[in-house]
Amino acid sequence: MTEKEPIRVVVAGPRGRMGSETIRMIAQSSNLTLVAAVDHGHDGERIEDLLGINGLSARIYADIDACFSQEQPDVLIDFTHPEVGKRNLQKAIDYGVRPVIGTSGFSNEEVENYRNQMDEKKLGGIIAPNFAIGAVLVMKFSQMAAKYFPDAEIIELHHDKKKDAPSGTAIKTAELMTKTRQSKKQGAPDEKETLAGARGADFDGMRIHSVRLPGLIAHQEVLFGGKGELLTLRHDSMDRTSFMTGVHYATNTVMNLDTLVYGLENILD
Ligand code: NAD
Repeated sequence: MTEKEPIRVVVAGPRGRMGSETIRMIAQSSNLTLVAAVDHGHDGERIEDLLGINGLSARIYADIDACFSQEQPDVLIDFTHPEVGKRNLQKAIDYGVRPVIGTSGFSNEEVENYRNQMDEKKLGGIIAPNFAIGAVLVMKFSQMAAKYFPDAEIIELHHDKKKDAPSGTAIKTAELMTKTRQSKKQGAPDEKETLAGARGADFDGMRIHSVRLPGLIAHQEVLFGGKGELLTLRHDSMDRTSFMTGVHYATNTVMNLDTLVYGLENILD
């Protein structure tokens, strides 16, 4: 492929909140082209008719095998549901299509299994639980800061439809911080909760608090306390466009990878 040729992309989950936003992002991109979408309905229809985005004549396929063999895309971007995302990722590997997976629900063992298969084929791809660049930078900065500020608490704030708590991003942030943070129990050694749960969840002695309110989207604060100083890192996702810079970046980057990467932070320079 010459450098000027656009990357041929298939999007799975085109009617979803993230999938439709991804299609709008591709429509505005100069180096990505939408060749097809995979949906469980609407076989044979056009994306233009389904989403009302002018100029997108890409076809919708209900059958991912037919889609891959007829369209021969470079990249699959998947924002569906956990079980569907896993099936689609396996199909992408089988057809040598580079996966960019935003769908949640992959265990470490599953990632390892897909990575082994992709290493054998030297196929590049990414699974990223959070595509918002700012959220990923907060994780990276928190890892740096935790070395000097072992006293830290995480507050994550989300809309009240969110099913899991704490968020995957908060757990990932805490995991990264433990790489540099000296293990330490947060707060007074003899502190007691007079109301159960008041001090939040315990992660290696560090506390994580989850706030759920209508009006919020996805936000996180990491607070560090030291002698006479405080450091606060905060990220706010205002809407789903916040994930698109990361999706675009990942779609370009997988073209030059020969393995499966887990987490956007591992491909940011
Ligand atoms: P959504 O419910 O709005 O969209 C999911 C879509 O998948 C629906 O339109 C549904 O019709 C479609 N779908 C179901 N089965 C399908 C199939 N067999 N083939 C094709 N499409 C199928 O959900 P959403 O908010 O768009 O989120 C989708 C996924 O992305 C979730 O797992 C969510 O947790 C995750 N997510 C990830 C990030 C990130 O940054 N990585 C950000 C937000 C959401």
